[in-house]
Amino acid sequence: QLPPFDYEPKPYTGPLADDVFTKRKKFLGPSLFHYYQKPLNIVEGKMQYLYDESGRRYLDAIAGVVTVSCGHCHPRVLDAIMEQSKLLQHATTIYLHHAIGDFAEALASKMPANLKVVYFVNSGSEANELAMLMARLYSGNLGMISLRNSYHGGSSGTLGLTALNTWKYPIPQGEIHHVVNPDPYRGIFGSDGARYAKDVQDHIDFGTSGRVAGFIAETIQGAGGAVELAPGYLKNVYFIVRKAGGVCIADEVQSGFGRTGSHYWGFETQGVIPDIVTMAKGIGNGLPIGAVVTTPEIASVLASKIQFNTFGGNPVCSAGGLAVLRVLDEEKRQAHCADVGTHLIGRLKDLQQRYDIIGDVRGRGLMVGIEFVSDRKEKTPAKAEAAVLLEKLRELGVLVGKGGLHANVFRVKPPMCFTKDDADFLVDALEYSLAKF
Ligand code: PMP
Repeated sequence: QLPPFDYEPKPYTGPLADDVFTKRKKFLGPSLFHYYQKPLNIVEGKMQYLYDESGRRYLDAIAGVVTVSCGHCHPRVLDAIMEQSKLLQHATTIYLHHAIGDFAEALASKMPANLKVVYFVNSGSEANELAMLMARLYSGNLGMISLRNSYHGGSSGTLGLTALNTWKYPIPQGEIHHVVNPDPYRGIFGSDGARYAKDVQDHIDFGTSGRVAGFIAETIQGAGGAVELAPGYLKNVYFIVRKAGGVCIADEVQSGFGRTGSHYWGFETQGVIPDIVTMAKGIGNGLPIGAVVTTPEIASVLASKIQFNTFGGNPVCSAGGLAVLRVLDEEKRQAHCADVGTHLIGRLKDLQQRYDIIGDVRGRGLMVGIEFVSDRKEKTPAKAEAAVLLEKLRELGVLVGKGGLHANVFRVKPPMCFTKDDADFLVDALEYSLAKF
């Protein structure tokens, strides 16, 4: 049984899974992909739980891909959205509206040092696209460096930065260098952050004129399988990149807002201060909003032209985003993630001792990866087994994310209200599935 939860979903009378699926296939194109053999029809969400058409409850351990930060339909976020929606849904930034300034001020107060200028966009892809534009204009160079195994978006520019081949299309990528991934579990230099950083220097020395526009990395990789970068990596790389005239960009689309437990931003786990920070997903608890935060010096490169997008800083998204920041602070969600994450990771590591198929347990706070292998020594990816386990967990009422180059990593990144009881249920369900397996 899932942990007790005092909420009754509303009776659902809408179309059932088969009809929804048929319509989706017909009208939404071939690019949609589903996790489960029998697609799940989700009709309601409340905090860390989702409900299907029959009223069955599921523990949501992936949060709409790391997006529902406070919890599904969190009452305070919902109130802020409703109140603003009743007054003004949209006007564009050609007029003044206080919500955008209030939100930008709150966001800037979360940033270190000189990172005080905020641009609002609508997604993580757009945020990274804008960051790349700023880096190229500021440096006067084109060459961007990103990590193998990275995901930075699906727009044409960010697809170039993205290195996971499952997402790539054969289109020109233009001046992007993908460096060796500093992955402590699978990477070729183990946990030696400085050694990986040398590959960045090599790319600059042997693949460019000696100057670059910038470097971008997820400070903890998401789609790539919850990979923490080897210690010391970013410190070394930032030094190398800045020496070559480049700008350092931290993609915090998944790792920000206290989810790591130990720090508010992922880059703090590596002891660096970026020049540009991009964010989306959890910033709006599900509202389509993203942001780029940078220094006044870098922001000034956009001053000679118009930099505008219709929806960025929309009053409803800004009011919702401000409520998210307040909820996370006032409900002390960062400390909560640290506490529950330590418990979860401890229990998973214990499971790892007993089940050889668990090759690696990694992460921080509520940003956790479980990598399945069929041979521990060879680290052979157990892709098929992971697919079976995913289905078994769903049968038991647990929804996790999957990721990694070989789709053999479970990602546990639930809403930040996930409790220790939820963590216990997830681990017990996994053990039950493994034993059956
Ligand atoms: N960066 C990272 C780290 C992401 O995980 C994602 C989305 N998975 C993006 C950028 C792109 O964000 P969006 O899907 O909102 O465009």
